[in-house]
Amino acid sequence: MSERKKIINCNVTDPNKILPFQYPWARVHYKTGVANNWTPEEVPMQQDIELWSKQGEGALTEEERRMIIWNLGFFSTAESLTANNIVLSIYRHVTNPESRQYLLRQAYEEAVHTDTFIYICDSLGLDPDEVYNMYLTIPSIKEKDDFVIKMTESIMDPQFQTDTVENIQKFVHDLVGYYIIMEGIFFYAGFAMMLSMLRQNRMVGVGEQFQYILRDETTHLAFGADLINTIVEENPEIWTPEFKQTIIENIKKSVDLEVAYAQDSLPRGIMGLNTEIIKEYVEHIADRRLERIGLEKLYGSNNPFPWMSEIVDLKKEKNFFETRVTEYQTGGNLDWD
Ligand code: MN
Ligand code: FE
Repeated sequence: MSERKKIINCNVTDPNKILPFQYPWARVHYKTGVANNWTPEEVPMQQDIELWSKQGEGALTEEERRMIIWNLGFFSTAESLTANNIVLSIYRHVTNPESRQYLLRQAYEEAVHTDTFIYICDSLGLDPDEVYNMYLTIPSIKEKDDFVIKMTESIMDPQFQTDTVENIQKFVHDLVGYYIIMEGIFFYAGFAMMLSMLRQNRMVGVGEQFQYILRDETTHLAFGADLINTIVEENPEIWTPEFKQTIIENIKKSVDLEVAYAQDSLPRGIMGLNTEIIKEYVEHIADRRLERIGLEKLYGSNNPFPWMSEIVDLKKEKNFFETRVTEYQTGGNLDWD
């Protein structure tokens, strides 16, 4: 590895000198993000508005409503928590220019996601004071947010510098909190619930928006894992058995919190979903996250939702929007005009 390469503490390179690239993967993630561009208003909400206010036959059940509201409550504030983390702490320390270019793109996507929840609240006529306070009032949501905030508090300190082995460990520890746990685990029970609903042709507009968010988050997570792996590669002394164990413990704890959140969102189970199946899914994705950052898997659970990976793979479609429209039209349930 060339001496010049350093993704953090870029006192050896100029943060404004983007060419020649040192980390081509950061560029690939940037281009993927741009190719996946979307806005919430492109998704019609008429069917959702009708279903949301419908009474009697075919109306949403109390269980379905709870699940939807819980997920809107979690995601509406989690998206801006993520955006704040990028802008207020990660950006300052990741000094490599092409990685910063990606972070700017990611910050924009988080703004699109924040905007999505504003659009959903407006369209469905939800009470913003209820939805945007759920991260304080609903314990299973609050515990997830508190866990991430606590896990990432050291680098929020304006005096924090990545100048010692211990501080670089803290930085990587916090990056695991942001990328692997928040975006890679805490979003996924929600994705599975909302996309199961879409598969049943219920709340199809909200479901499509969750589909695009999932596609974006897949890239955020891939960037985060590449960033973590690069810092470890460039600073191998930080990757001690004790440090790895701390990360593993945090991931385990996050799986428990995510399963508790699923149980609380969906206490009785609906649409073939119940806590057991979601637990299996969360364990499966936690194993994949562990392996992605060079740690051994913990659970060995199978993926009960292979269709979730198919949704992520949609991003490989060149003409994503056309493909999507055709698919839904074939199903005869989306009036796209
Ligand atoms: Mn997001
Ligand atoms: Fe994200």
